[in-house]
Amino acid sequence: MKKLFEIDDKVYERYDERNQLFCRTDVDKEYKNYKREVYEKNAELIKEKKQGYTRIDYALDSAAWTLYETYKVMPKDMIRGLGYYECYKSLPKYEVEDKKKMSEIIKRVASFFGASLTGITNFDERWVYSYDCNGKKIEIPKEYKYAIVMGIEMDPVAIASSPSVTSACATALGYSKMTFLIMHVGEFIRALGYHTIPMLNDTALSIPLAIQAGLGKLGRNGLLVTDKYGSRVRICKIFTDLPLEIDPPPDSYILEFCKTCKKCAEACEADAISFDDEPSFNTQCPENNPGVKKWYLNAEKCYDYWYENGADCATCITVCPFSRVKENEPKDFWGMDI
Ligand code: SF4
Ligand code: SF4
Repeated sequence: MKKLFEIDDKVYERYDERNQLFCRTDVDKEYKNYKREVYEKNAELIKEKKQGYTRIDYALDSAAWTLYETYKVMPKDMIRGLGYYECYKSLPKYEVEDKKKMSEIIKRVASFFGASLTGITNFDERWVYSYDCNGKKIEIPKEYKYAIVMGIEMDPVAIASSPSVTSACATALGYSKMTFLIMHVGEFIRALGYHTIPMLNDTALSIPLAIQAGLGKLGRNGLLVTDKYGSRVRICKIFTDLPLEIDPPPDSYILEFCKTCKKCAEACEADAISFDDEPSFNTQCPENNPGVKKWYLNAEKCYDYWYENGADCATCITVCPFSRVKENEPKDFWGMDI
């Protein structure tokens, strides 16, 4: 069978999350941006009365992160639906007689709780981080055979305002919606008597799992590009032992269109995106994990620009023709002077 990903097996190792930029910022004392905050310039920018960087914009951003930030500090055993009531606890495990039907049910449930796209793939150890951000070894018990991968559309009007703060609000809300989604879909599965490992960006790489689950392909911008929303999606996932039928993977993982389209590279203020015609094994910064053929993003240049900008940027999402942002006028999020 043809392999989906082009991987140099002599080089590739599971990704150590401690190499990830946000993690380095949190825990790596040697890192130049240790403990720096992307929003550290907000007071200065608000004072300048710069459009798109007002007190109102920053307040919306803070609000949009609410559920995600709460989840980060919440003891995970506090998350529950009605499963703790005796009448639920005494129910036997649900028997799955038809895996195909169970997959359809899961997709319906995910859509009910807000997923724009859902795919199901086999658990694949290659995409599981070797260590988490705090240096804890990650090992997933073998009964977790499936990954449910969900994409959530980000607001097209807000994202179109990149690099201003309202664009970052679309990202922030995407994270809070991801949190909502994994909490609720996870509880649905547990209420049937099965186990879950619900994940945001933690524990495993979302993009290859999303590709395997048929949600889209890998773009030059280093992001998943979906047919319907381009890269205007956030991805979360759940490992589970609930028996499911998997979706067929695509025929290739690289988006061929990117070989000639270079819109995201041209628009990137940080010069972080490759202009090479073909994907390669050439990494760009220590945060990259070598061994996969793709267009490696210079994550350090990208993140440095976020500090300079005073908010996260999404320009490589906005300009991508697949993101269909242009169809959604007006470009100004508020539509009025604020
Ligand atoms: S987020 Fe902005 S800075 Fe980073 S790669 Fe995309 S366009 Fe460049
Ligand atoms: S803008 Fe063009 S090159 Fe960049 S990810 Fe989208 S399709 Fe690919």
